[in-house]
Amino acid sequence: MQLILMGPPGAGKGTQAAELVKKFGIPQISTGDMFRAAVKEGTELGKKAKACMDTGALVPDEVTVGIVKERLSKADCANGFILDGFPRTVDQADALEKILSDLNMKLDRVLNIHVPAEELIERAVGRRICKSCGATYHVKFNPSKAENVCDNCGGELYQRADDNAETMKNRLSVYEASTRPLIEYYKKAGKYTEIDGRQPISKVTADLEAALR
Ligand code: ADP
Ligand code: ADP
Ligand code: ZN
Repeated sequence: MQLILMGPPGAGKGTQAAELVKKFGIPQISTGDMFRAAVKEGTELGKKAKACMDTGALVPDEVTVGIVKERLSKADCANGFILDGFPRTVDQADALEKILSDLNMKLDRVLNIHVPAEELIERAVGRRICKSCGATYHVKFNPSKAENVCDNCGGELYQRADDNAETMKNRLSVYEASTRPLIEYYKKAGKYTEIDGRQPISKVTADLEAALR
């Protein structure tokens, strides 16, 4: 199954991708996670990505498309994948078409998690992530049992540097200008399903699974 999970920053893509990974046994490909790993390792890619991520701008398409192409060519994607946070521009979507046709693959479905802008800042600012296993929590909407400790693995939780109200405002305007046009793009392709992301996490998961049946 070849899926794209779309939605504005903080909509719940990462949270839901983790559920779909468990359910379908296909990998999650998060460009944001890949960039954060590169920043942590201090690679050339990380240096290029960091400046953009800090302000909430997009990393240039040629950089982003390159890492996705490399990742989709790996053996574990042969039975499917969940793209989380890619594509984010029409040029990236065009590039994805080319990558998939070169690999003899095609997209099955584009699932868009819809959450209104006014709820997204609170979601991002309250987001906490496990340093060890990457599990995502929210201080109010999905808290860990013990403060700052991961339920899964006991790891320490951290807050992303870009999860502040100021950077989120930029990320939301970048979303409006560059990413929202993809809704029409995939509607035209006949692969688009919209899910109401304002529901509890388990209900959003159930709606996503129903859309894939
Ligand atoms: P994205 O990957 O789209 O940026 P995340 O999955 O990281 O979003 O979710 C952003 C924040 O919102 C996290 O703190 C997460 O725990 C929380 N969250 C996710 N889904 C919901 C939901 N349905 N209701 C309330 N909060 C949610
Ligand atoms: P969120 O879904 O909460 O916005 P991500 O982890 O997907 O967070 O992205 C974090 C940052 O990484 C983005 O603000 C952007 O700078 C960069 N990034 C992630 N994916 C892409 C992409 N497809 N194209 C360009 N930049 C990206
Ligand atoms: Zn953990």
